[in-house]
Amino acid sequence: MRKQIAAANWKMNLTIGQAEKLIDDIFKIPVSVKHGQEVVFGVPFPYLTTIKNKLVGKEHFLVAAQNCSDKKSGAYTGETSVEMLHSIGTDYIIIGHSERREYFNETNAQLAEKVLLAFTYKLKPIFCCGEALAIREAGTQNAFVETQLKESLFNLSAEQITNFVIAYEPIWAIGTGKTASSAQAQEMHAHIRRVLASHYGNDVANTVSILYGGSVKAANAKEIFGQPDVDGGLVGGASLIAEEFAAIINSLK
Ligand code: PEP
Repeated sequence: MRKQIAAANWKMNLTIGQAEKLIDDIFKIPVSVKHGQEVVFGVPFPYLTTIKNKLVGKEHFLVAAQNCSDKKSGAYTGETSVEMLHSIGTDYIIIGHSERREYFNETNAQLAEKVLLAFTYKLKPIFCCGEALAIREAGTQNAFVETQLKESLFNLSAEQITNFVIAYEPIWAIGTGKTASSAQAQEMHAHIRRVLASHYGNDVANTVSILYGGSVKAANAKEIFGQPDVDGGLVGGASLIAEEFAAIINSLK
C-alpha cells in the first residue's frame, strides 16, 4: 500500500517561538496517524533540528528541508548541502517547488542533480511538479508535467523511484484560494502514474505516493485525498494554522 502523507510547507514564515507553539498546538488536538501514514513538516533550515527534537517519540512525524544545493560541497556561500541536511537528521527534502523554479530559476536539469544527491545521502525527495495557468488554459498541462518528470526523474533506477514521493501542485492553485477540483487532481495524478508506469512499469508506479498541493484546507482535504490516485497533500497556508493542519492530517485515507 502506498504511503499517505500530510506534508506542511511553512515556506519563509514563523519565528522559532511561533514554530514551536504551532507544533505544541497541533499535538493538543487529537490527531490520528496510522500505520502507513506520515506527517512531514517542511520547515526553514534554521529550525530543522529544533523541530526534529520536538518530534522525538512521535511515530510517523518527520521533518523536511524546503530546498538543498545541487552541489555536493565547496565554495557556494549561503547554500545548504544534502550532506549537511543528512548530518542533522533531516528526513525529507522538498525539491523543485514552483516558487524555487520561478523566483530562483531552478531548471529540470538542476533538480535532477538535487534528486540524485538526496539519494546519495538517503534523504527522501518530495519532488514538486505542476503547470502555470496559461498552460492549463492551453490544455497542454499533461505534456508539460510529463516533461518535468522525464527531465528530472527518468535517470533514476527503478529501485530509487520505488516509494518515491511526488507533489503535483498546479501553480494557479498555490496560495490563491483556488483549488483544482478533485476530478482535475485525480486526472493529473493518474496521468503522472501512467508516465511513471511507461518508464518503470506498473508495479513500481503503484508504489509512488503522489500528493496534491494547491490551497488544500480542512474543508476540502477529505474530498481531494479520497481520490484513488491522491495519496495526501503538500500544504502551504493552512499548515500554519494548528486546527486546519490537524484536520488535514485527520483527512488522510
Ligand atoms: C505550497 O506552497 O506548496 C502550497 C500548496 O501552498 P498553499 O497550500 O498555500 O496553496
